[in-house]
Amino acid sequence: MNKLGIFMNFWEKGWAADHKKYIKKAADIGFDILEFQAQPLLEMSDDHIRELKKAADDVGIELTYSLGLDRRYDVSSLDESIRKGGVTYLQNIIRKMEIGGGTLLSGVSYAGWGTPDDMQDTKQPYWNQSVKSMREIIKVAEDCGVTYCVEAVNRFETCLINTAKEALAYIDEIDSKNIGVLLDTYHMNIEEDSIGDAIRTAGKYLGHFHTGERNRKVPGKGHTPWKEIGEALRDVGYDGHVTMEPF
Ligand code: MN
Repeated sequence: MNKLGIFMNFWEKGWAADHKKYIKKAADIGFDILEFQAQPLLEMSDDHIRELKKAADDVGIELTYSLGLDRRYDVSSLDESIRKGGVTYLQNIIRKMEIGGGTLLSGVSYAGWGTPDDMQDTKQPYWNQSVKSMREIIKVAEDCGVTYCVEAVNRFETCLINTAKEALAYIDEIDSKNIGVLLDTYHMNIEEDSIGDAIRTAGKYLGHFHTGERNRKVPGKGHTPWKEIGEALRDVGYDGHVTMEPF
C-alpha cells in the first residue's frame, strides 16, 4: 500500500504556518504524510525542527518537502553568482531537512520558478547550468540521506523540464542514487501525450507522485483519468508516496 499524503498549503495561503497544527490535522484525517514548502526550514532553529519531527513521529506522520525555487536562487542562471548562491541555498535546505529526519525533497528545485523570456529561444545553456549545479547539490543530498526528486511541470512554471522524458534525461546526467523523478497529474495533463505512458517512461526512476485535478481541485472532483493512472502505477510497481497537491 502506498503511503498517502497531503500538501499543507491546501489549508494555508502562506508558506510559513503553524506546522504542528497541520501535522495533527493530517493525522486526524488519516493521512500518512504531510508535505510542505522547504524554504521556511531556513528560518527555523534546529531545536524547532526537532520538535516538529517529534510531533510528527508522535502521530505517525512523515514529513516531506517541496519547493518552487525563488529566482534569486536560480541554479540554472547564466549568472554564476546567482547560480552559486542557489547551490548553497539548496544545500543548506537539505542540511536542515536532515536535522528533522526528512528524506524527500521535490518540486521545481532545479531552476527558478517561472520561465525567463530568453529561455524560450534555447534552454540548453540553462540546462547545462542546472546540471552543473545539481551535481554539486546532490553530493550534500547523498551525505544527508535525502532523495531529490525533480518535478516535470507545465511550461508556465518553467520550460526546463516539462515531461517525464526530459526528467529522465536530466537525472541521467546527474547519475546519483539520490536523484529521482516526481510526476504530477495536474502537470502531466497539460504536457504529456499520454499520462499512462509518461508514468511507464519514468518507471523505476519515479520517486514521488503528486495528484490533483486539472483545475487543482481534490482528486475525484474532476475528469482526470484515475483508472489509467492507477494501472500505470501498478505496471511500474510504484510503491512510493502519493501526495495530494490541491490548491
Ligand atoms: Mn506538484
